[in-house]
Amino acid sequence: MNLLLDVNIIVDVCAERPLFGKASRDAVNLALARGFGVWIYAGSVQTLEYTLIGELKRICADDELCLTNRQISFRARALLKDFCADKNWLAALSAEGHVFEAQDPEDEQLIRALDRLIPGEIALLTRDEQLLNRQDPRILSPEQYLTRRPEARPIDFIDLKGQQNDIRPALETGIHRVLHHGQYIMGPEVKELEAKLGAYVGAKHAISCASGTDALLMALMAYGVGPGDAIFTTPFTFIATAEVISLLGATPVFVDIDPKTFNIDPAKLEQAIIALKSNDPSIRPLPLNSVLSTQSSALIPKGVIPVDLFGLPADYDAINKIAKEHGLFVIEDAAQSFGAVYKGKRAGALADIACTSFFPAKPLGCYGDGGMCFTDDDELAAALDSIRVHGKGSHKYDNARIGINGRLDTLQAAILLAKFDIFPEEVQLRQEVANRYTALLDGASVRPPHIPPDDLSAWAQYSVLAKDEAHRAALLKSLQEAKIPAAIYYPKPLHLQTAFAALGYAPGAFSVSEDAANRIFSLPMHPYLQKEDQMKIAEIMKRAC
Ligand SMILES: *Cc1c(COP(=O)(O)O)cnc(C)c1O
Repeated sequence: MNLLLDVNIIVDVCAERPLFGKASRDAVNLALARGFGVWIYAGSVQTLEYTLIGELKRICADDELCLTNRQISFRARALLKDFCADKNWLAALSAEGHVFEAQDPEDEQLIRALDRLIPGEIALLTRDEQLLNRQDPRILSPEQYLTRRPEARPIDFIDLKGQQNDIRPALETGIHRVLHHGQYIMGPEVKELEAKLGAYVGAKHAISCASGTDALLMALMAYGVGPGDAIFTTPFTFIATAEVISLLGATPVFVDIDPKTFNIDPAKLEQAIIALKSNDPSIRPLPLNSVLSTQSSALIPKGVIPVDLFGLPADYDAINKIAKEHGLFVIEDAAQSFGAVYKGKRAGALADIACTSFFPAKPLGCYGDGGMCFTDDDELAAALDSIRVHGKGSHKYDNARIGINGRLDTLQAAILLAKFDIFPEEVQLRQEVANRYTALLDGASVRPPHIPPDDLSAWAQYSVLAKDEAHRAALLKSLQEAKIPAAIYYPKPLHLQTAFAALGYAPGAFSVSEDAANRIFSLPMHPYLQKEDQMKIAEIMKRAC
């Protein structure tokens, strides 16, 4: 249970009030020790200072100490500064201002602030009789809090709350700035984010957009992809990667994955290109191209979309070389790999165009949908910029091509700027969490992820392989019983999805992907995952075999 502290509790602790100080301090420390957030309401600042000064004066008088008013006020501020150092500030919102019709406006402010938070997750800690007499289950005295049965802190699959607490001041300042300047579309935060992320990745141009899916769509549109074109990609990915190909009337040509990295297998990619060019499905499985392309049955190979699955970049040295030999473009699907490194270069700078996603659960996520394209190519960048805004030409109502409404919201850009401040540190923390998992899973019956020696994953997921489908089911059941969340990415490869039935791929066409889909699952992964929780998870991985 998180705690919102009433002024009297903070004064208890800071002034070490003989009667109440101990219970208040114990309650606050207990919440902190259990890993819960302790909140101070920003609207209480003035009352806090005033009340603490009054209390310190009383103590001085009782103890016959001669301190000047200035000394007491200085002492009060020093005590409050120390107390607040490891607490969260809960902002005062304008809806909490109009409270003068209430009996006690200050209490009313706290109740209104409490209304914002999820009941059962937060309690208002107070000694105010009037508040306690409301019989509101969200309001507790320190004594009541201390005698509650301890709740187990749940293990999160992805912990967005812990992160939010770390960046709340920057987040709220950023959001409010947008509310006040009012440039909701393509505001200054959008440009700032593009400049920062482009520099981080090492790409000359960064073009933000409305989602990772739009980023991929815009990249294909920038190359003019359409009916009759073949785009090679992996069947072991999220639907969006291949969906955008079909959406433009082009045909996805699936290529099986490497069993160690789960990323597209470059050797098979080359064979698939040759198979398509010679129209010979005996080399590698090909789609029933006559179904989707209208007149001509021969598809024209145009490009490749490798996916950096689970945060690990695909093998771009090999892929880019093959693509170049065959005159194909390469679009990096970096939706899961923002922050990753491939042979000294950042994900997002590994192909002609890279596309990432800011879906909340991705390594760098916003609080809604968002995405970005990166490229070093000036012409492609100009095309992407135009496509993003309805194919705009020299001005808004001059349309040079068919485009989409694909802009990133200014509010999401502001949120991303706050999140990006701690992102490099989070990438490091994810790496530490992954290293701990791998060490803890030594001797377990699941295969941990394989990361090539020159690469760093962004650890969007920590995915392991069970021995077979039944083994995976048993492990998932044990995790579920221990209330540990887990997920299967991805249970069905794309070539077997109904949406792609028209491509005519049969089961067995991509055996490595199908085998992975049967055995893979992902464990909780986020920068704030605790070692004790990982030990619990590893214990289950060892026990259930
Ligand atoms: C999430 C994801 C996308 C799509 O991103 P959205 O922002 O959700 O549209 C595309 N490709 C892969 C591999 C993804 O994981």
